[in-house]
Amino acid sequence: MTQLELAKEGAVSPQMGQVAQHEGLAVEVIRQGVALGRIVIPANINHRGLVPCGIGQGLKTKVNANIGTSPDFGDIDTELGKLKVAVGAGADTVMDLSTGGDIAAIRRAIIAESTLPVGTVPIYQASIEALANHGAIVKMTDDDLFGTIEEHARDGVDFITVHCGVTRQAIDRLRIQKRVADVVSRGGAFLMGWMLHNESENPLYEQYDRLLEIARQYDVTLSLGDGMRPGSLADATDRAQIEELITLGELVQRAYQAGVQVIVEGPGHLPINQIEANVQLQKSLCNEAPFYVLGPLVTDVAAGYDHITGAIGGAIAAAAGTDFLCYVTPAEHLSLPDSEDVRQGVIASRIAAHAGDIAKGIKGAGEWDRKMSLARKNFNWAEQARLSLDPERFSRVHEKHTTGGQACSMCGEFCAMEIAEKYLSIPVTKCP
Ligand code: SF4
Repeated sequence: MTQLELAKEGAVSPQMGQVAQHEGLAVEVIRQGVALGRIVIPANINHRGLVPCGIGQGLKTKVNANIGTSPDFGDIDTELGKLKVAVGAGADTVMDLSTGGDIAAIRRAIIAESTLPVGTVPIYQASIEALANHGAIVKMTDDDLFGTIEEHARDGVDFITVHCGVTRQAIDRLRIQKRVADVVSRGGAFLMGWMLHNESENPLYEQYDRLLEIARQYDVTLSLGDGMRPGSLADATDRAQIEELITLGELVQRAYQAGVQVIVEGPGHLPINQIEANVQLQKSLCNEAPFYVLGPLVTDVAAGYDHITGAIGGAIAAAAGTDFLCYVTPAEHLSLPDSEDVRQGVIASRIAAHAGDIAKGIKGAGEWDRKMSLARKNFNWAEQARLSLDPERFSRVHEKHTTGGQACSMCGEFCAMEIAEKYLSIPVTKCP
């Protein structure tokens, strides 16, 4: 039985218990959230050593780190190195997006090594194998695709991105309204090419029940992909994107009825003033299913700093009700991220997630900042380091220049907090 089926029956699973402990909430709150489809616990029955993580309403906003090879770069050791860095920086989940080397071996090594939930995008492997076996991606068969999805599920993948909403209708809407940056989702592009070449509907849409069967058997969480996400601010919130979202809302309902856990993926490049509306649209069209967004990126011009661009959008999206942030690294739009890019991306997204949690009133979020400010007021540097999001960097920067006193080298003897403390501690004498 899946977590959803158990929860609907009123049962509490060990995974729900672990999530409740991690979130500091009553297990019944978790069970109810799962039963309503507003919380998911991606936990494939075959993923040994997994530490369950809850994603959804009322929980801390979670952060995903993408790793994986590209056709020309990367290997198992490099990707396991990135996994280690992502875990060390505090990611909640990882996705293996490998498209180079022995994709299956890399995936299995990551699953074996990871206590975090692992996600994949099976169409990458299916398309690349179709190229190798049949000479072209567009020659991929339905059985190739569903066979690969089953392989990922059997291997223990906890959540899979499936672009079921890339339908002929959505492609027509894109063609009619036109875009600056057409389709930027790799999976969305593979599928659209396959559909247009074969003049066929999307098999992930047409044979959705086949997908649900596989997901239910292994308790794989479906991450309904936004193949039509905007890749440019100019294309944000257009008809193709919304057409896809409506389709995903219907597929959420079918997954829920089938006992399959499901989340919905979202944009992409979005101007700040459209983020909240996009979150509200998703929540109302998709029965409050957890929302998983990439960034969003609030400008198109900051390549090299897109971890910052994504964190700005991520904080606003999280505050508006988004549950899951897919990180963006400084290498976005430029190159395959290395370990340092992974670290920077995770930290930037964790800042966004936490800022959103404070705004949402998530349990313990504001208290964490209050404790930090108290430690700062008391010049308790060890406690500040312990409480900081990145203790290693905190200490490295603080110790760059030391004053020998309790204040830091920013102001030294003119430390405002010392001065304020000195004068505010003078007993108030009643004015005569
Ligand atoms: S020296 Fe300045 S920056 Fe450092 S603790 Fe004091 S007020 Fe803050």
